[in-house]
Amino acid sequence: MQKCAMLQLRQRRWIWLLAWGLLSALGSLVLARLALAELRDAFETDARIMHRLLSQRVVQHDAVMATLALLQPRQSAQPQPPEQRLGAVYPQILALQRRDAGAPWPQDSLRAAEARSRQSRHAALANLDLAAGRYQLVLGADPSSYALLIDLRATVPWSEWPMRPDSSPVRVTLEHQGQRFLLQPGQVRDGGWRFDFHKHLAADSQPFDMVAVRQVGWQALPWGWFLAWAGAMAALLLALQALQRQRAGRRRAEELLRLGQISRLNSLGELAAGMAHELNQPLTAVLANTQAASRLLREDPPDLATARTAMTQAVEQARRAASVVGRLRRLVERPELSGQVQPVLLQEALDNALYLLEPELSRRHVQPVRKTPATPLAVLADPVALEQIIHNLLMNALQALEQTGAGPRELTLSLSEDQGQGLLSVYDNGPGIPPERMARIFEPFFTTRQAGLGLGLSLCETLAVGMGGALSASSPASGGAEFRLTLPLAAPDDPKQP
Ligand code: ADP
Repeated sequence: MQKCAMLQLRQRRWIWLLAWGLLSALGSLVLARLALAELRDAFETDARIMHRLLSQRVVQHDAVMATLALLQPRQSAQPQPPEQRLGAVYPQILALQRRDAGAPWPQDSLRAAEARSRQSRHAALANLDLAAGRYQLVLGADPSSYALLIDLRATVPWSEWPMRPDSSPVRVTLEHQGQRFLLQPGQVRDGGWRFDFHKHLAADSQPFDMVAVRQVGWQALPWGWFLAWAGAMAALLLALQALQRQRAGRRRAEELLRLGQISRLNSLGELAAGMAHELNQPLTAVLANTQAASRLLREDPPDLATARTAMTQAVEQARRAASVVGRLRRLVERPELSGQVQPVLLQEALDNALYLLEPELSRRHVQPVRKTPATPLAVLADPVALEQIIHNLLMNALQALEQTGAGPRELTLSLSEDQGQGLLSVYDNGPGIPPERMARIFEPFFTTRQAGLGLGLSLCETLAVGMGGALSASSPASGGAEFRLTLPLAAPDDPKQP
């Protein structure tokens, strides 16, 4: 399994993009639904207004007929009865026919309509021609019956109409028995969303259905709002991302500071240990010399008193110095690490160290290659000490890689199980370690770097050994350097398993 930091970075970018896409799509969906609901509401309100206006007009026809039936006995004798002037008041009434008692209707259809009217006790339709927008309304009454010829187009009160009939997208028709009168054509195409309104006009005598249809296409959706929403989401996510990056940067800086502090403390310990080591040798020599002096005193002629005093004092001094060194050594002795170990996942420790070094890696254009087993590898270690070792090894590798010039920079980090131990190998294709240097790199104060202290590797080794593990180095013939850190594996049934 191979993974690298850049891949994770790219994956994270995809996640942000995905989140933006999802939020934009969801927001647009809600906006589209709201816009469609608003359009539907407006459509239904308009359709209800049109239905009310048309219903009022057709009911008016019933009222006119009822009035004619009531007034007829007196009016019928006049030369030009007032009913003939109806057209002046109601422009939709094109003509009026009257059939006096005993006289026939000019058409059978009118006779049949009168019969239906008498049966239903309200006016009845005759000669319906919806395509032309004409029909007749017949009311059977005594002594005279009446028939009105009605023009549907003139029936519509256009001045009160809620939309412009020539440009409105809504199609409105009046329908009855398969016939249809087109009030306004609208624009009805395929695709998109369709709103329908279907209702009887409120007059039994003229049982027309008013049908209104509005087809809403994709272009009617609020694209401007969609764009604005997507833009707002992008701005929000970018701000969140910046905040997250800022937080991660702060966390990383704090972590590095902490590691630096620990490292400095440990380096001081290492320094003191080195000094103790250095001091102990001359002191031992002093001790040996004084003992030699005392031997000399045994020669002839010996100044026994002075020699004995001097010797006793020298021995005392030497012992005091040795005890000071001993005390110093005890003071700087590192606490026993083996007591502090706990199960730690090597993968996690490596991830943490890589995360902290992310800026260093990208600054040096190094893309580490991770080779890790699919199952987690738990070792017994002190988490801080382990982190410090990995950090030091990675920093050393990065410093070595700086010397590779323009060639490709390889940094391979492998985790595996090796002879019952957890193994972390850090390989870099830097200049490698020549054999004469190899024996000394773990010595305190051994360094080949100008600004180096030479304490890093010796500290790492001490820490590794303190945790029951080991640290070794090799420089393969093919070039570069490999550092191998081994640590005892945590038992699978360890109650402290992470
Ligand atoms: P410092 O980093 O202060 O020199 P270290 O103890 O970490 O101290 O390293 C000691 C020496 O080991 C370095 O100066 C360098 O010569 C050698 N060394 C460490 N790591 C590498 C490496 N990855 N490649 C080559 N040489 C290395």
